[in-house]
Amino acid sequence: MNIVIADKMEPEVVAEIKKLGNCTVTPAAADLPAALANADALIVRSATKVTAELLTHASKLKIVARAGVGTDNIDKPACEKRKIKVINTPAASTNAVAELALGMMFAAARRIPKADAGMKAKKWLKKELTGTEIQGKTLGVIGLGRIGTSLALKAHSIGMNILYYDPHAQSAPAVGKGVSLDELMASADYISLHVPATPETTGMINAAAISKMKKTAVIVNTARGALIDEEALYSALKEGRMGCACLDVYPSEPYSGKLCELENVVLTPHIAGSTAEAQMRIGLELIEKLKAELK
Ligand code: NAD
Repeated sequence: MNIVIADKMEPEVVAEIKKLGNCTVTPAAADLPAALANADALIVRSATKVTAELLTHASKLKIVARAGVGTDNIDKPACEKRKIKVINTPAASTNAVAELALGMMFAAARRIPKADAGMKAKKWLKKELTGTEIQGKTLGVIGLGRIGTSLALKAHSIGMNILYYDPHAQSAPAVGKGVSLDELMASADYISLHVPATPETTGMINAAAISKMKKTAVIVNTARGALIDEEALYSALKEGRMGCACLDVYPSEPYSGKLCELENVVLTPHIAGSTAEAQMRIGLELIEKLKAELK
């Protein structure tokens, strides 16, 4: 079995993968086509673009394994045509993303970024920084899959009321109440997005949806940038028609757009899944799946 690991992975994970066959580890990009000549499996994260052209150098390839969730960097139709199986590790980053969403809610409620920036600028902003509490507030979860459910359970355990909207949900958690999107937008103090970007969800948080929100509401997006109409969000934040936006994902990345100019935002650079624990889980989940496929 010949395996090419194209992107950087934890040494412990690489050591485990090496037990499965002959491994070529992170060849230089220019050497990747040659390295693929005898490869049965190609392992990537998000950096390597698995294009139809790259696949022409991999005549024996049977599996493309994405260490992580999104497979946007893999030309899946081209893989399908060649009967190359694409696998990923969708569950491994669930807890990490749910924890960041919750952390962002606390950051917004207690204005931690402003307090921190003030201290570092040697300013004692005590009088300006009276916050609010999360306990007793309503969280609206849009998309009740792995991450949405994990967040709902965590938020419920710290005293939040949970509403959720997911017309395609496979199951419902033991906490909260399913409502229409309109009701969720109008009733929630915090709204957290956990849907994939699809034609149905792209731009779902637009000017009309934002107009239904409470003036103090906080929106959290750790899912995909395309879900929110950036222009509508910017105007609502600037004009004080909503409380705060906490964003980890953007319409295009790396992001340095005009939302960065606002004070009522909490911004992180697409790090929701980036924890040491999630990276290890991704590696271990990938190894289990590879073992099953390569049997
Ligand atoms: P999942 O597939 O388990 O859940 C998605 C849920 O969205 C499903 O329950 C589905 O029924 C629901 N849904 C689909 N269309 C909907 C609609 N129109 N309205 C309401 N609900 C709808 O996915 P997940 O693992 O929970 O991941 C959710 C999102 O988080 C994905 O977009 C994923 O790309 C993103 N994500 C981001 C990061 C990051 O680093 N920021 C990391 C991992 C995942």
